[in-house]
Amino acid sequence: MNTVKQYTNGEVTVIWRPDRCCHSGNCWQGLPRVFNPKRHPWINLTAAATPDIIKQVECCPSSALTYHVVL
Ligand code: SF4
Repeated sequence: MNTVKQYTNGEVTVIWRPDRCCHSGNCWQGLPRVFNPKRHPWINLTAAATPDIIKQVECCPSSALTYHVVL
């Protein structure tokens, strides 16, 4: 079974599918306050503004990170 984890700040929900990650490093190099693989949990959506989080998630080349806006 493939793991799927979700994180939310009440404005955006980020979905993390580790099996899809190609370890490009885009996320933790681009927005390390939010994406930090040395921290647990490694995604902290309170550390940046929602538009910046969305912009970074859209740079994930493997779709390991996706999002939906919380309505
Ligand atoms: S940007 Fe996507 S593919 Fe690259 S390390 Fe982050 S989650 Fe993995």
